[in-house]
Amino acid sequence: MAVKLTLTFLGTSAMVPTKERNHQSILLSYKTENILIDCGEGTQRQMRIAGIKPNSITKILISHWHGDHVLGLPGLLQTLAVNGYEKTLRIYGPKGTKQRIKWMLKAFEFTRRLNFKVKEVSNGTIFKSEDFRIESYKLEHKVPCVGYRFVENDKIRILPEKLKKFGIKQSPLVGKLQSGKSVIINHKRIKPEDVGFIEKGRIIGFVLDTGLCENCLRIAENADLLVSEATFKTELSDKAYEYSHLTIKDAAYIATRANVKKLVITHFSQRYKSTNEIEREAKEYFNNVKAAYDFLKVRV
Ligand SMILES: [Zn+2]
Ligand SMILES: [Zn+2]
Repeated sequence: MAVKLTLTFLGTSAMVPTKERNHQSILLSYKTENILIDCGEGTQRQMRIAGIKPNSITKILISHWHGDHVLGLPGLLQTLAVNGYEKTLRIYGPKGTKQRIKWMLKAFEFTRRLNFKVKEVSNGTIFKSEDFRIESYKLEHKVPCVGYRFVENDKIRILPEKLKKFGIKQSPLVGKLQSGKSVIINHKRIKPEDVGFIEKGRIIGFVLDTGLCENCLRIAENADLLVSEATFKTELSDKAYEYSHLTIKDAAYIATRANVKKLVITHFSQRYKSTNEIEREAKEYFNNVKAAYDFLKVRV
């Protein structure tokens, strides 16, 4: 059984929130990790409603410093400090993030200390563990902006009956095979694939606030799930271009070109009351698509 990997959409609006939609934020939950992607205004209240404890957050990935993606940050950090957050919070963001967090801490009275580390990212791997890695890629927006890619490591599933067939009993040898290395038995080289199969790791791409660019495809490449902004319907492509945003058709184009299995679009302009009309248009271009709404949960 694959490890549970869930996304919770905490906010799905673009620049201006609406009655139905809060500012941007998505929570990725995987094992002990709770990774918050963007933290728009009101995010901590949305977390409460969704039953997510603020202290469970392990990392915050910031796409860029437009208000709809970060205005909830000071409030969340204050709550963590008051709640006695014991870990070191890891914050990632584009160039300028360190300076902006310094300014933010100056702008408000933070009475309690919070341990956190900020890393500015551009193109490449920004975090690696034995289970997964996170990559970031620069996007094209009005201000420095990055998209993120969560890549779970491939796993080798060893089949006991095949081990038996090759007469492998020793656990160090099994461990070696499990870690992806070959072993020699009776002068014969046995590869991990000979005694099991490779379970492909899951990939999730996050493309928020950008004009159409090559790195959108890089983030989305072969993803099991792509989360993409789609601020405007395709009829407003002039506006999308002017403000460096994507239309529904652009998001579908990225998903198609990058061989994505499932697409979830988000970050909708306040002019759209319901997401039904958005989803209807999206289905014209991409079959497996969903228009996100606040508190939508997606299992990957
Ligand atoms: Zn935005
Ligand atoms: Zn923006």
